[in-house]
Amino acid sequence: MRMPAGWEAVIGLETHVQLKTASKIFSSAPTDFGAAPNTQANAVDLALPGTLPVLNRAAVECAIKFGLAVNGGDDRHIAARSVFARKNYFYPDLPKGYQISQYELPVVTGGQVEIEAGGARKTVTLTRAHLEEDAGKSLHEGLDRPGVSGIDLNRAGTPLLEIVTDPVMVSAAEAVAYARALHGLVTWIGICDGNMQEGSFRCDANVSVRRDGDPRLGTRAEIKNVNSFRFLEKAIEFEIRRQIEVLEDGGAVVQETRLYDAERDQTRSMRSKEDAMDYRYFPDPDLLPVAIPRQWVETVRHSMGELPAAIASRLSAEFGLSASDARQITQTRALADYFFALTAALGGGHRLAATWLLGEFSAALNRAALEWQEAPIGPTRLAALLLRIQDGTVSGKAAKEVFDALWDAEGDVDAIIAARGLRQVSDTAAIERLVDAAIAAHPKAVEEYRAGKDKALNALFGQVMKASNKTANPGQVTELLKKKLAG
Ligand code: ADP
Ligand code: MG
Repeated sequence: MRMPAGWEAVIGLETHVQLKTASKIFSSAPTDFGAAPNTQANAVDLALPGTLPVLNRAAVECAIKFGLAVNGGDDRHIAARSVFARKNYFYPDLPKGYQISQYELPVVTGGQVEIEAGGARKTVTLTRAHLEEDAGKSLHEGLDRPGVSGIDLNRAGTPLLEIVTDPVMVSAAEAVAYARALHGLVTWIGICDGNMQEGSFRCDANVSVRRDGDPRLGTRAEIKNVNSFRFLEKAIEFEIRRQIEVLEDGGAVVQETRLYDAERDQTRSMRSKEDAMDYRYFPDPDLLPVAIPRQWVETVRHSMGELPAAIASRLSAEFGLSASDARQITQTRALADYFFALTAALGGGHRLAATWLLGEFSAALNRAALEWQEAPIGPTRLAALLLRIQDGTVSGKAAKEVFDALWDAEGDVDAIIAARGLRQVSDTAAIERLVDAAIAAHPKAVEEYRAGKDKALNALFGQVMKASNKTANPGQVTELLKKKLAG
């Protein structure tokens, strides 16, 4: 989307990441998805009188991991003492009448996530990340009694880490790049299963617009619970356009919560938005402050393995990958694992591997809407193909054809090369015949080249490659063409 002239957008994201703990944040009930309604809610989750919450240590550990991961392993942003607070509001799926969250003293303060959007790099700064419990769910459909709503409290008390960015993104593309990078990170460090259909990773997008150069932030609307990257992009784009229209018509943007309707591709108002003071936050007297001794942080750090950002630096320093390629390779664990399996099978070739994975392979996965862990060509088979490029058996161009055939499961690499006649020809006499033929058939290109138009060589080169069914050794073709044209 192109921004309408004279306007800029400002976006901040709040992401609810469901933590991969076996039991809930304040009770021993299980957190499995999809069980029959109210079979995974115990007395604490139901808010029965006389019950008390007991903090799940594993949830705090997830928050510590996250705090280390977004601060390059630095522990200064992890609070030594943090506090749970009650956020008071009424809703049928919240039987206590308040949600236990964190307000003044979250576990994590600050942090950053590196993104790349539209070819430009950017650091998205985080405001905070705090622990909280999820609410239950209201069911309005599929009940055996018509006109009645049901309440399912299975999800009540599921541990969440809410990760809040500063208002620093300026386009839907940047917001999506951030959401993808964050998704890659939380699944990499193993604190979230990343399943967006099941709601394990949900984004709220805060969107406002302002006139170019205006230092003040505009009034924002918050789009709730978007659960796919594509919808996130569309919802933000719609919302930016809507707000600009409202303001250009002389109206005012209302601070409110909106919902994205994917079928109509629009956002619509859900409710006016409360300010923090309306929730009457106060420290929960049922829970002690959480003490996080440095010793604990150290233990967690040692359990984590190398962080993706560190691996990326290593890929650049040791193997000469560009910073951008290195970051992309380490954006998800599945891709990084694939990359290391591939280079192990190749015995090196890191840059060739990165070029293929981020180019041809990524494009093919996109077209098929597949993720790396679903790739139809495994690292060993791809390595067999890249080896044939390295040893000169096929040209890069012919290799792309072999790749497509591999994707369609036509057989193994050498069989495909043989069956399709793609073996590279480095026989000088044979190439010379093709070069002579191309020169004879295209006098105009020859004339242009001799008149100093270097690009005319590309046309002749293309002719030779085509005539050879992509098998002519490209280096030799260029060399021979130049020699003959100079003579
Ligand atoms: P709340 O907790 O009430 O939703 P916060 O002040 O904590 O409000 O902000 C929530 C999110 O909204 C943050 O990601 C922040 O960056 C973003 N945000 C705040 N003001 C604006 C604005 N004017 N435009 C866009 N995003 C904003
Ligand atoms: Mg909010």
